[in-house]
Amino acid sequence: MKRREFKIFMDFDGTLSQKDVGEQIFNKFGDEKQVIKIIDDLLNDRISSKQSWIDLCNSVSSVTEEELNEFLETMQIETTFPSFQKYCKEHKFEIYVLSDGFDFYIDRILKNHKIDGLVVYANHLKIMEGKLIPSFPYYDESSYSSANCKSNHIINHSSEDDFTVFIGDGNSDKDVVEYCDFIFAKDHLLKYCEKERITFFPFKNFDDVTKKIDELKEKKRLKKRNRAVLKRKQAYMVE
Ligand SMILES: [Mg+2]
Repeated sequence: MKRREFKIFMDFDGTLSQKDVGEQIFNKFGDEKQVIKIIDDLLNDRISSKQSWIDLCNSVSSVTEEELNEFLETMQIETTFPSFQKYCKEHKFEIYVLSDGFDFYIDRILKNHKIDGLVVYANHLKIMEGKLIPSFPYYDESSYSSANCKSNHIINHSSEDDFTVFIGDGNSDKDVVEYCDFIFAKDHLLKYCEKERITFFPFKNFDDVTKKIDELKEKKRLKKRNRAVLKRKQAYMVE
């Protein structure tokens, strides 16, 4: 039997990290009233993700890089992630982190926990004279719920032979699940998949994911999700 290629795409905030770091940063350093309103608008689709990041950054009147780094020291990753990464490495399954958060804190947190070898796509954050300046190198107007268009990365990093896996928890993962064969969902994303009747595996931690992928890997016959194959095909053709 030909070796099955799984491509693993995953969210960062609340998936690889224990908490939603982006949200935590603005809860701590932003104007409380403004932050509550912006997040409520975002979760109710009144504003796009990109707009929410611009507004959230504006809600911070002043912060230094040192203050941010000190805060990031307190952020933890999911304790089961390192063994999942090891499992993927052993089986040569590539992992891509697709985040609607910022490179600034993702790089720092991964470094703090000595995790390397991951390909990360995220929005960019610069700190200048106490101000937070966001930019969005992977923005695509077709993606409303994530300023980093996650589905474009899937198209760029998978071929028709691959089984694509997505692992996520939140609002920014809503568009991308359409493009993946196997979805692991919790929290917000789980509710969304239920509502939209999208097939998914619920998970609590990465041990659950490892176990399931290992089962899928050994199955005699494994089918891709029709809807996802179609979505990807349409996108490959546009490319
Ligand atoms: Mg998330």
